[in-house]
Amino acid sequence: MTRQRQLVYNIIMAAPEHRTAEEIYDLARAEMPSLARGTVYRNLGILVRDGRIRKLEMPDAPARYDRERRPHPHLICEKCGKVEDLTMPEGLLSPLTAGRAVTGYDLKLYHVCPACRAR
Ligand SMILES: [Zn+2]
Ligand SMILES: [Zn+2]
Repeated sequence: MTRQRQLVYNIIMAAPEHRTAEEIYDLARAEMPSLARGTVYRNLGILVRDGRIRKLEMPDAPARYDRERRPHPHLICEKCGKVEDLTMPEGLLSPLTAGRAVTGYDLKLYHVCPACRAR
């Protein structure tokens, strides 16, 4: 891995936040001021392609990047956009998928997070 790619990867692996490319770029540039935005975007694409991280497409908002590679549902605040991982209960999908060779899923649940509710 190049130093630039390693830096982008380390930022994603360091925290459970599902950051946007812009957020990752800001953090990366704090460590490597010469880093170009295009380099960060290109390396994110390569890391996704190589299966090291996952890209989470968001409706009407920039995609986010996820260090957890196993399929899992997401809980998304519809006010601030905060994304949390949920654990899929064992066997929950099997009544829906019986007999089908399901290869993955993309489940997003929406709520208003406690911080936004308190506002
Ligand atoms: Zn919120
Ligand atoms: Zn996630």
